[in-house]
Amino acid sequence: MKKQVYIIGSGFSSLSASCYLAKAGYKVTVLEKNDSLGGRARQFKKEGFTFDLGPSWYWMPDVFERFFADFGKKPSDFYTLDKLSPGYEVYFGDRSSLKIASKLAEIYELFENEEKGSAKHLKTFLDSAKENYDTAIKDLVYKPGISPLELVNTTTISRVTQFFSTIRKQVRKNIKSSKLIQILEFPVLFLGAKPDNTPAFYNFMNYADFGLGTWHPRGGMYKVVEGMVALAKTLGVEFKTKATVSKILTDDQKNVTGLVVNGEEIEANMILSGADYHHTETLLDESVRQYSEKYWDKKTFAPSSLLFYVGFDKKIENVSHHTLFFDTDFDVHAAEIYDNPKWPTDPLFYANFTSITDPTSAPEGKEAGFFLIPLAPGIEDTEALRAEYFDKIMDRFEQRTNQKVKSSVLFKRSFCVNDFKGAYNSYKGNAYGMANTLLQTAFLRPNIKSSKVGNLFFTGQLTVPGPGVPPALISGKLASELIIKKQS
Ligand SMILES: Cc1cc2nc3c(=O)[nH]c(=O)nc-3n(C[C@H](O)[C@H](O)[C@H](O)COP(=O)(O)OP(=O)(O)OC[C@H]3O[C@@H](n4cnc5c(N)ncnc54)[C@H](O)[C@@H]3O)c2cc1C
Repeated sequence: MKKQVYIIGSGFSSLSASCYLAKAGYKVTVLEKNDSLGGRARQFKKEGFTFDLGPSWYWMPDVFERFFADFGKKPSDFYTLDKLSPGYEVYFGDRSSLKIASKLAEIYELFENEEKGSAKHLKTFLDSAKENYDTAIKDLVYKPGISPLELVNTTTISRVTQFFSTIRKQVRKNIKSSKLIQILEFPVLFLGAKPDNTPAFYNFMNYADFGLGTWHPRGGMYKVVEGMVALAKTLGVEFKTKATVSKILTDDQKNVTGLVVNGEEIEANMILSGADYHHTETLLDESVRQYSEKYWDKKTFAPSSLLFYVGFDKKIENVSHHTLFFDTDFDVHAAEIYDNPKWPTDPLFYANFTSITDPTSAPEGKEAGFFLIPLAPGIEDTEALRAEYFDKIMDRFEQRTNQKVKSSVLFKRSFCVNDFKGAYNSYKGNAYGMANTLLQTAFLRPNIKSSKVGNLFFTGQLTVPGPGVPPALISGKLASELIIKKQS
């Protein structure tokens, strides 16, 4: 008889794990509380518009290729990728904007135009970023984070000083233009912490940005979810939506024995949870939880977000598919997220208009707009605050991009802290997990395997390797490998 694994949640990490486990011969059942699959990467459709609810930047295409290759497939068997050109556009305080080209030679030219001599520094910086990327992919992120020793080899040792310096110091050493600094400090925001709290080693994200480029799956990020679900189904994975797990049951030997799903007890002797780690532990009796509330409270979490999905009844001018509004003081906003949590005085924000390059996401002549303001996790969330901040960013958007858009809003849907908690059982309503700071890297992150409960494993953005879609794919692989190893 096949060995059975129950997987809680259907985010990217769970989908990834489900494929690996099914391929290894397990009977896999995915239990998802929501009515659709994909976790934070679900889709929202309205009046002919299609929005990705969460992730929109497809970076590190090699990680997706590697995932599908493990099953003898390619991403193109499931979706079509376009390389965006420009990759993205950034607005600054002086109302100017810069577009990041898809070709490195053009990026060097842009840097040189902004600051004489900076192209040379950028080249040195990117050489080191590429080496770090190769090291990260080869020696670090595909390690399960069980022991510090798994990270030690001659290549990683030669880079150890980069863990004790920060991205901020490294970027500012040679580049002086505030605009270029903002562009170079942006990629590590995906890791969930401030550039002055993120090890310089993570400059590999800059290589991901400039070296590998920004891609878009035609039809949106949800096409990746659909591709992985299709693959999982061919491998025999069973999916159950509207299946809420409210308890993980254990016996006197502290091994898992079952789950309570929609109020009904089912037998289970192997469980992998891709739901937020903190939430999963609350499904256990307190005596067998590994981490206390105090532990979680002390951790640096990635921001929560206030999101708006907006249907516009006209095309929007002077923006690119991905557009960042770095036109206010980043340090003030960052301090209001991490140091002194409060609603931001003058928020930076990010917008995407996928319908600029992908006609499938909006009716002809219309534009699908997605707006994201990073916020401190756990902050108060009310309809009045959401409305106030929508007006705030729309006013700025109109000024910066020199056009009227408010009167063209057909509809808008918001999503914020309370929705992250309600929809995903997210700790403090975090949007994308636990940050990759020095003390929250690799074996210092919550463990992929429970040290207290036998046959309970974890995957996803709160464990290794960290936040983001590519890390989620890797996390699923790591967790499934541990399960397979344990049972073989
Ligand atoms: C707004 C936003 C923008 C982002 N942008 C990007 C981006 O551009 N690029 C990028 O790479 N990454 C981005 N990310 C991060 C990326 O989306 C996540 O890191 C990744 O999708 C997380 O996957 P996961 O498997 O860890 O968890 P999740 O996607 O959170 O999946 C967990 C699942 O568990 C389910 N669940 C929870 N509790 C239970 C329960 N008791 N019973 C059953 N099911 C349960 C939840 O409903 C959910 O479906 C973004 C995230 C957000 C929110």
